[in-house]
Amino acid sequence: MTPTLTFWGTRGSIPTPGPGTTRYGGNTACLSIAGAGRLVILDAGSGLRPLGHDLMVHRDGPLKADILISHTHWDHIQGLPFFKPLSAPGNEFCIFGAAQNGVPLEEILRHQMDPMVFPVPLTALAAKVQVTEVVPGDFVLTDFRVSAYRLRHPGTTLGYRLTPKHSGRSIAYVTDNELGEGGDYPVGPDWRPGLARFLQGTDTLIHDAMYSEQIVQARRGWGHSTPREAVELAGEAGCRRLVLFHHEPEHDDSAIDRLLEDTREFARRIVPGLEVDAAAEGMELPL
Ligand SMILES: [Zn+2]
Ligand SMILES: [Zn+2]
Repeated sequence: MTPTLTFWGTRGSIPTPGPGTTRYGGNTACLSIAGAGRLVILDAGSGLRPLGHDLMVHRDGPLKADILISHTHWDHIQGLPFFKPLSAPGNEFCIFGAAQNGVPLEEILRHQMDPMVFPVPLTALAAKVQVTEVVPGDFVLTDFRVSAYRLRHPGTTLGYRLTPKHSGRSIAYVTDNELGEGGDYPVGPDWRPGLARFLQGTDTLIHDAMYSEQIVQARRGWGHSTPREAVELAGEAGCRRLVLFHHEPEHDDSAIDRLLEDTREFARRIVPGLEVDAAAEGMELPL
């Protein structure tokens, strides 16, 4: 069976429901990789809620999954309290991600469900949840080899490259990453070539493409990229396909259409042959 990557949340910063975002979607970051053995979930934004609903409806028996968290900004963890499979006994989840400024990942996730701000504590959930902290470097899941790379974004943010152990092509999930100048991040001078090496030969690159060329100058140091910057990186790394991700909340569907059109035009000139798409809720890509 071919592994399939599904987008459940594509938006950055805050959910943006409404008539203007029906095609690309209003839920925040969440993807799943199914069909390669144990289920893998990338980020736990509000898109995790519809994924949880789908799993409850379509899965028989206990569910076991690995959840990789890029970092703990709200838009990447806010779906966790509403992930229904966490309330079902017999289910098992391993959550992977980095500590933040010396604060353990588990503590951050517990704070999001503190009685001050949420009615049900993380510890009251019926499923078994194990939290594992990761640092840049390699680790293995049941059915994937994973590499993590520190990104240029406030806090400790990790990009993940996943290669199926059995069959299927590799993907890299690199969101909340500033490719342009600006920002004061604790990364070395070799960061950019290191990132290109980390991504070398990845089939599908999912990359932060939040800012338009018009706005990026005013937002240097905020930790995000433009679609054109993502194209240049995909070209350097020799990727086959680039998926623009973490859409700006102010961009409605037609704004993303225009951005995508401009990006494809740019890619035709700079990286001929690169396939460029914009992430849309419900979009499925075979790996
Ligand atoms: Zn984000
Ligand atoms: Zn962030």
